[in-house]
Amino acid sequence: MRTAFKCRAYPDAEQAAIFNRTFGCVRLVWNKTLAERQAAYRQRGENTSYKQTDAALTAWKKTGELAFLGEVSSVPLQQTLRHQHAAFAGFFAGRARYPRFKSRNGRQAAHYTRSAFRMTGGRLRLAKTGAPLAFAWSFDDIDLATLDPTMVVVSRDPDGRWYVTFAVDTDDPTPMPTAGHAIGVDLGIKDFAVTSDGEKIPNPRHLERKARNLARYQRRMARKQPGSNNRRKAKAKVAAAHRKVRNARADFLHRTSTRLVRHADTLAIEDLAVTNMVKNRRLARAISDCGWGEFRRQLQYKCQRAGRVLVVVDRWYPSSKTCSACGHLLAELSLATRAWTCPDCRTRHDRDHNAAQNILAAGPAVARQKPGEVCGADVRRQGPSLPQSATKQKTRSARSGTPSR
Ligand SMILES: [Zn+2]
Repeated sequence: MRTAFKCRAYPDAEQAAIFNRTFGCVRLVWNKTLAERQAAYRQRGENTSYKQTDAALTAWKKTGELAFLGEVSSVPLQQTLRHQHAAFAGFFAGRARYPRFKSRNGRQAAHYTRSAFRMTGGRLRLAKTGAPLAFAWSFDDIDLATLDPTMVVVSRDPDGRWYVTFAVDTDDPTPMPTAGHAIGVDLGIKDFAVTSDGEKIPNPRHLERKARNLARYQRRMARKQPGSNNRRKAKAKVAAAHRKVRNARADFLHRTSTRLVRHADTLAIEDLAVTNMVKNRRLARAISDCGWGEFRRQLQYKCQRAGRVLVVVDRWYPSSKTCSACGHLLAELSLATRAWTCPDCRTRHDRDHNAAQNILAAGPAVARQKPGEVCGADVRRQGPSLPQSATKQKTRSARSGTPSR
């Protein structure tokens, strides 16, 4: 299993210049390779292999105008070819979107494999740079002196901050002690999540405030003259605001996912088809801000690491409209209804808590599979009376564009 440790880096002026030049070369190699790949496909219907791109890179270094590619470490350039190859494989397999050209304004990164760095006594030296790279190690439980990374990534965010990431291969995951508990989680917009235990996890307020700040800075930047100094300053503020939103969201998602995984041996969540929902513009912002996709990714790898089971319940399962006490299925449940009483067994339900209990109940059939495995609970078309429009309320709200589920 691979774990990554990311921390702030503080290159000196000389190192920063070298890294910046390396980023430029990485970007050039990525973009030029992408352009040639596209041309080969468009003009001759040919697919390009990794080997061909590698040969092209070698040839470019021999030309007068691109000879400067030979001045930086060749490893990050090779790596970017590998990444592009993997990106296309992902695209053809339907897992990822079509690879895009890289902009000088985005995050910049250079990947160094073992042959291009040396790690001795906790000091990191990268190819073509003189002194060891200074960085702030913040993982107290990991002894830096014995760290043996397989890859090191140097990156620069659009706001100018530098980072270094150490990728480490670790042994098999250490299972967490058994919690003797299973929970279902209903993800929403009003509350970020509600569990079958009845716990409500609200969206953090500070995140909303930071998002509003970001929007304000973006409006301000739009009013400045392109190319002006004021525009440049406004842009730096936007980048910083972006970073704050990103960090706050990541922090919230990590805390929440870690806590849930620690709390239960089996977790059941709903497959929300986040990509489809984000296509709806009006809801997109609210959902992206919630970070459901990222949250599920975190649950997935954290469950795997801890030997827990994550059950993903089919999204057509009417978890909101089914009574968790007796199984009665309501014909209709409006979005505005936050609580309801079952006409059959008279149980009073909180909408989200009831949904979370149903999600949990849909899980156990597959929950006894091998720990660490992610499994899907196929409860599609369960029961005889599923109406054709049994799509979950959430999905319906995505269609009608009402952000208040
Ligand atoms: Zn009932």
